[in-house]
Amino acid sequence: MLPLTLPVSSDGPLFVLAIGAHPDDIEIGAGGLLLRLAESQLRVRYAVLTGTARRHQEARDAAHAFMPDADLVIDLFDLPEGRLPAVWGSVKEILEDIARSCSPDVIIAPSSYDAHQDHRTIGELVPTVFRDQLYLAYEIPKWDGDISRPSMYVPLSADTARRKMELLHKCFPSQLNRDWWDDEVFLGLARLRGMECRARYAEAFRCAKTVIQVPG
Ligand SMILES: [Zn+2]
Repeated sequence: MLPLTLPVSSDGPLFVLAIGAHPDDIEIGAGGLLLRLAESQLRVRYAVLTGTARRHQEARDAAHAFMPDADLVIDLFDLPEGRLPAVWGSVKEILEDIARSCSPDVIIAPSSYDAHQDHRTIGELVPTVFRDQLYLAYEIPKWDGDISRPSMYVPLSADTARRKMELLHKCFPSQLNRDWWDDEVFLGLARLRGMECRARYAEAFRCAKTVIQVPG
């Protein structure tokens, strides 16, 4: 197992594009990674494609809570929840608009293997729009039972994993009564992924393609 060091460009901090279909996707899938990245200078474009006014406010609160010192641009859209495949063209346009206006180093977004149709639509479109970035596809535990085989791991300390839990509960009060929203689900998955990479906790991602640059 070799470490992958995230690129830091000479002209500024690491630039991350985080994309979610719904408010809370980004934080459930990659909240620990964002907490870790936010310990250093960080530039973030944060985009969520669906949501009501209340849920958009939760997304805004979460983005600031997970990345308090980041240079943060937040884009919130109100495409129809549960129906992103039916507005495929609008999803692609939003992603293309973002791609025209910025050039991130890393993209954190849902996976094309995700069982939820909204997540999957974004996961299928990301590589059609962004071709020069490291694309880390996050996983979200769900009723459908689509947990699959990841290829990348971000080890998390117990403190970071617990901080992620605290912020999830604090930032997304509208989700607290969902039967799957609890510490055992989130920490259980994180512990399992941690075991797989010899850490206490971890978040796992799929990365379909990386380019190895041999030094020299
Ligand atoms: Zn979602």
